[in-house]
Amino acid sequence: MPEFRFNVLTQEWVIIATERAKRPMEFATTQPQAELPPLDPTCPFCPGNEHMTNTEVCRTSPTDGSGFPWQTRVIKNKFPALAENLQPDQAGDFFQTHINGFGIHEVIIDSPHHNRRITDLPFKDIEKIIQTYLLRYRALERDPRVRHIIIFKNNGEKAGSSLAHPHSQLIATPIISGQIQTRLNVTQNYLNENHRCLMCDMIERERAQNLRVIYENEHFISFLPYAALSSFHTWIFPKTHHAHFGRLDDAEIPAFANILFYVLKSQEKLLNHPDFNFVIRSAPTDCPDHAYHWYMSIIPRLSKTAGFEIGSNIYINSSLPEHNALELRNVIDTLKQFE
Ligand SMILES: [Zn+2]
Ligand SMILES: [Zn+2]
Repeated sequence: MPEFRFNVLTQEWVIIATERAKRPMEFATTQPQAELPPLDPTCPFCPGNEHMTNTEVCRTSPTDGSGFPWQTRVIKNKFPALAENLQPDQAGDFFQTHINGFGIHEVIIDSPHHNRRITDLPFKDIEKIIQTYLLRYRALERDPRVRHIIIFKNNGEKAGSSLAHPHSQLIATPIISGQIQTRLNVTQNYLNENHRCLMCDMIERERAQNLRVIYENEHFISFLPYAALSSFHTWIFPKTHHAHFGRLDDAEIPAFANILFYVLKSQEKLLNHPDFNFVIRSAPTDCPDHAYHWYMSIIPRLSKTAGFEIGSNIYINSSLPEHNALELRNVIDTLKQFE
């Protein structure tokens, strides 16, 4: 029987339509993965082609013995959605509010390797990516014009990526999106009523039920949302409460790299390299630490948004999150066996 489920954090209803349930193989991408060369002389993100990119913001030191000039590189987006040299100025009236298009749009090149996804990299290289995210987050949150920093990855064409070389992006804005504002209202109301963090309580509940948890290590836990918007939609939560991604303790970086690897690898194995997006959902820069709890959302792009979703904002998920979680957990158990 189909079921409406309510996602308490996003305040969205989802239809879990198990009659439409598909086996993982039916989600599998039918297109074979294009074989990429380790280096591409025409790729602006490959080492040796640094002159082809926009201004470099920073780079991290190369892994010992790699022979490459850098491990990660941050550059200004060549086609930024927003302009950096502006002072945000809100104007207009109730019907027509506007702010000039101030914002910062950067690209983070994940590694010098043209053909290695995150899941092909050793843990220390995944840690380097996270260190780079943190470096930029911590630098930009000090800019008084910035109110929100979004770090994300579009992996594959269906996820909106236009360049094959693995990379992530960061956009800093002077405004807070409606999505984040909704989450903030929910966590603030919960805090007022219960004097506790909604996400800390949600983690406790998920761990106790153990129906949707797929992986856990010392500092992080991953589970599928009770009302997941789409099949295999996965959350990663830090167990230590912090509203801001930038407060992640450097000692917790290896655990974040570890859980990110297992979550992405299990999806990759089960769903045959799906295109995916991930987003770090951090609080606005001026949000007090007790009022929100940062996390990461990972969304494999298995189905397309259709008219009903656009018209109602109610998503139809054709699989049960509990089933998806079990399948991912089994893959991770197998991966662990061969460690
Ligand atoms: Zn490249
Ligand atoms: Zn919390």
